[in-house]
Amino acid sequence: MATYHGPRCKQCRRHGMKLFLKGQRCSTDKCAFERRAYGPGEHGNTRRRRKTTEYGLQLREKQKAKRIYGVLEKQFRNYYKEAERQKGVTGVNLMRLLELRLDNVIYRLGFAPSRSAARELVVHGHFLVNGRKVDIPSYLVKATDEITVRDRSKNIPEIKESVDGKAGVGTVEWLELDPKKFIGRVLDLPSKAQIPTPVNEQLIVNYYSR
Ligand code: SF4
Repeated sequence: MATYHGPRCKQCRRHGMKLFLKGQRCSTDKCAFERRAYGPGEHGNTRRRRKTTEYGLQLREKQKAKRIYGVLEKQFRNYYKEAERQKGVTGVNLMRLLELRLDNVIYRLGFAPSRSAARELVVHGHFLVNGRKVDIPSYLVKATDEITVRDRSKNIPEIKESVDGKAGVGTVEWLELDPKKFIGRVLDLPSKAQIPTPVNEQLIVNYYSR
């Protein structure tokens, strides 16, 4: 499973915002960004920022999206190609493809505290899609799909605590969660407005269109 294993909090500090890469820790005062909201490195808080070029902004936005969804360069580029091939607006198609990944959906439903935790839980075979085991984090869900936690996995503390935490909060509009039964449903494919990821997808399109 190809994935990013570098220091995650540094990514938040580099991008100047919380990317929520570490689950529950991100919402506590242990969050590195809360304590040091400046760039990483020895001179991160004193270094004067150089003026960022248009190319730099585009590159940074692409890197940010990759980090948030935990996707490496080659796979990200493949998503972009697929987004270009599809009808509609390429940037929106790209964001939708990323959102429909099973690991992201597991995270959005609240079955895992972060996308990286979701990825691991998926690989270990804890989820069913329409009643069949799926252990591929990049699996793309479809509208009307039903995602369930396997019976034997419902007592795994990471899943249970995460679902309990999500029970009173709910999930995104295009998903539905039944926390008592550990069932999630894909109500529809998300529109751009229903994807709460802080990414300017047009900058990514401009990056790949150079
Ligand atoms: Fe980012 Fe804070 Fe989470 Fe670290 S703990 S990944 S800095 S949001």
